[in-house]
Amino acid sequence: MKIVPDPAPLASMDEWEDDLKIRYPEDGATNNFDSEFRNYDDPARDSVRTFYKLNHEQQTLEFARDKKKEFCGREYREMGIWEACEYLNELVDDSDPDTDLSQIQHLLQTAEAIRADGHPRWFILAGLIHDLGKTLCLRDEPQWAVVGDTFPLGCAFSEKVVYPEFFDSNPDSKKPELMTKYGIYEEGCGLDAVTMSWGHDEYMYHVAKDYLPEEALYMLRYHSFYAAHKEGAYEHLMNDHDKGMFKWVRAFNPYDLYSKADTPPDAEALKPFYEELISEYFPERIRW
Ligand code: FE
Ligand code: FE
Repeated sequence: MKIVPDPAPLASMDEWEDDLKIRYPEDGATNNFDSEFRNYDDPARDSVRTFYKLNHEQQTLEFARDKKKEFCGREYREMGIWEACEYLNELVDDSDPDTDLSQIQHLLQTAEAIRADGHPRWFILAGLIHDLGKTLCLRDEPQWAVVGDTFPLGCAFSEKVVYPEFFDSNPDSKKPELMTKYGIYEEGCGLDAVTMSWGHDEYMYHVAKDYLPEEALYMLRYHSFYAAHKEGAYEHLMNDHDKGMFKWVRAFNPYDLYSKADTPPDAEALKPFYEELISEYFPERIRW
């Protein structure tokens, strides 16, 4: 069992995803309730708030650039995709085993729901691998630098990012040149030119970028960018290509948040199908 490194306000990284489901219920309603109306008597909500405080205060442009340099050279190890799924599954935290799926079960449940809807094979594969960047947690990266909503750095923070008030304590907020609407960017520069807050999305994009169709890569890279794909923020940084591709990010999101199998997926039984699918796109081992 792997001990999650400090500071770890979330008993499980899934608490962040559980909070997303409250914020964005499946019926399409939006609980954009002000932070004051959030229920802080609920200890789970409280730990999510603490988690976002740590995240928003420490995700600076410099931090994200440094992490990209540290991890995107991918000099940690070589692993196959299925091996990485099993590796991620070593991440065991204090979640409730009766209600919470293991990491590999979440990946398979997402992929199986995509498969059941008859989507292309690369889409199913994106479902399987979308959270493999969470293996950063097994490398002693703190939760706030692995999961959580992502957002652009180097320009003004949008009020549409959850808990925007915590950005007041982010050192970038004291740098006026980074706090204009466009900051270091130009209108419509395209998201590829934008440094996003660091986490499992950006890392997994770099791991997979040589192997998957672009639609799948957008799903990997921006699936936690809720301010954009759910709230429509930051369109001024997107180019037309991004706007077209975000259709796929939006198509992916419900499978990540809401797919729920009657019985948890059986990894051993599904392994042959997924090994075959993986081999259509990936070599046996890739760099992490
Ligand atoms: Fe994710
Ligand atoms: Fe996920």
